[in-house]
Amino acid sequence: MRTALISDIHANLEALETALANIRTRGIDTIFCLGDIINYGANPNECLSLTRRVSKAIIRGNHESALVSDKVAATFNPYARRAILWTRDQLDAEDRRILSSLPLIHIEKEWMMVHGTLEAPEEFEYLYDPADALRNFPYMSAPVCFYGHTHVPMLFSQKGRRALHLTAGKYPLEREDRYLINVGSIGQPRDHDPRLAYLVYDADEFSVELVRLNYDFKTTAAKIREAGLPIFLADRLGYGQ
Ligand code: ZN
Repeated sequence: MRTALISDIHANLEALETALANIRTRGIDTIFCLGDIINYGANPNECLSLTRRVSKAIIRGNHESALVSDKVAATFNPYARRAILWTRDQLDAEDRRILSSLPLIHIEKEWMMVHGTLEAPEEFEYLYDPADALRNFPYMSAPVCFYGHTHVPMLFSQKGRRALHLTAGKYPLEREDRYLINVGSIGQPRDHDPRLAYLVYDADEFSVELVRLNYDFKTTAAKIREAGLPIFLADRLGYGQ
């Protein structure tokens, strides 16, 4: 059983289509989405319908919360705040309502997923370093917890005390350990690698593989500029930050 975990799509249709085409060639059984489908990019509706069509379950990111919550939007930088106002206008009221009430956590038999942290899912804090991981391990109700939000693929192990930045490739997991694993970002990587990222979880092998792929970010950037969204959001796509 192999599962693809996709996160932080951020209305980037070119990246999402490239990732899904790659997922199809791998004979992967199911896809789960960890939130932040929308905002920053110019294709929120297209990304939303595509993600809904392919995902077995979707959880809520802070950008979905910000569709209805000015309190969450107020935590954004000025570029993201401008963009969320634009994104609110693009989506209809029903989609805004559905997205902003998505669950914060999803639990499968052997793994679970959250956008930010298990410690305070609704606060959308960032899980960046071993101290953050140590605070979150006690909240796990499955041996593996996938998360997103930072847009930086990482792996923390509880017993092995490992803290790794993940680069493209496969990582075997130990059955007796517990893991917090950031699956990276489809639409806006922030680890200085502009290629899209997603994760494959192989339950039989008990391994994860980080996939990195080039996509046509110039088209994505051109659409952002044409939509009148902040130019910064277009420019940073090529730098992965
Ligand atoms: Zn995000």
